[in-house]
Amino acid sequence: MYKIAIIESIHEDGIQLLKDNPNYDYEIIHDVSEKNLIKKLPNFDGCSLRISHLTANILSHCKKLKVISRHGVGYNNVDLDYLKKNNIALLITNNANHITVAEHVLYMMLFISKGMLSHDISVRDGLFNKGIAKIETFELLNKDLLIVGFGRIGRALIKICKSFNMKVNVYDPYVDNETIFNLGGKKINDLDLGLKNADYISLHVPLTDETKNMINKNNLSNMKKSSIIINTARGGVINETDLNDALNEKKIFGAGIDVFETEPVKISNPLLKNNRVILSPHSATWTNECKIRMAKLTIQNIIDFFEKKLDKSMIINL
Ligand code: NAD
Repeated sequence: MYKIAIIESIHEDGIQLLKDNPNYDYEIIHDVSEKNLIKKLPNFDGCSLRISHLTANILSHCKKLKVISRHGVGYNNVDLDYLKKNNIALLITNNANHITVAEHVLYMMLFISKGMLSHDISVRDGLFNKGIAKIETFELLNKDLLIVGFGRIGRALIKICKSFNMKVNVYDPYVDNETIFNLGGKKINDLDLGLKNADYISLHVPLTDETKNMINKNNLSNMKKSSIIINTARGGVINETDLNDALNEKKIFGAGIDVFETEPVKISNPLLKNNRVILSPHSATWTNECKIRMAKLTIQNIIDFFEKKLDKSMIINL
């Protein structure tokens, strides 16, 4: 009997897979403090993981642990070096959420461009259309989009944006010209130049030493005043202080932010008071459909791991 910890609850349809299988027992861990994880996790053979952090300190107490199954695809919340050294598998829910995140990007681009925040308030306040002429709004049609990071989500986004006839530049040093060209984009090698020319920018890179603060006051100050930047990748890819300053100084028009340097975001974060940005709580994948897909795949990956029939595309480190 394998014991599985579900760190932070997931959709019931995923948990049901463990309930239906006599080889597994499970427990949901709601308290994700380091102290509680050190106390609880050593009893388990495997775990699922959402956004809480599994540090080397926590993992060093987990001698039985064989597999960590991420409910998602990013994994900067796990100490990968520790997992490699100690032969603990790290799995992701490959291809379960890329379209959902791309939809969220489109929603944020349209929401900001159409002035939805002001329009909604105007109607609710009884002003109807008085004053709306002052609100600047834009079309996506024919605009220049820069996609930074051209993996699963970047490639899903380009397909949607092509239907607005957007001209799409792609910055991803690890993807070849031809792949980008075949999907209707143009590869660029100079990020700062790409940012300078773009009307819309969407970030889809993992958080690494290379991508940390890749959007900062230097390149923000050279962007178009009408530009809109969306970050559904990871907090820290955009420097939040620099972004807040750029918005306040009207160096860029707006931003849509789903991910934060610290999560849950602190109430003192100045972006929360900035009305040129729209925010969501790391919820770009949080549709009914995607929650079910991710929960089922997270658990199925654990079962397939123990049954030695795991799809290779789900494995990060073995
Ligand atoms: P992916 O691994 O398929 O693609 C990432 C791409 O980034 C790759 O093509 C890679 O070559 C590129 N890249 C890496 N370093 C780069 C650099 N320095 N400059 C430019 N490009 C670089 O990942 P994905 O599924 O497209 O997801 C992208 C990121 O989005 C994930 O790493 C994750 O952090 C984040 N994400 C967030 C949510 C959310 O809920 N907001 C959901 C899913 C993924």
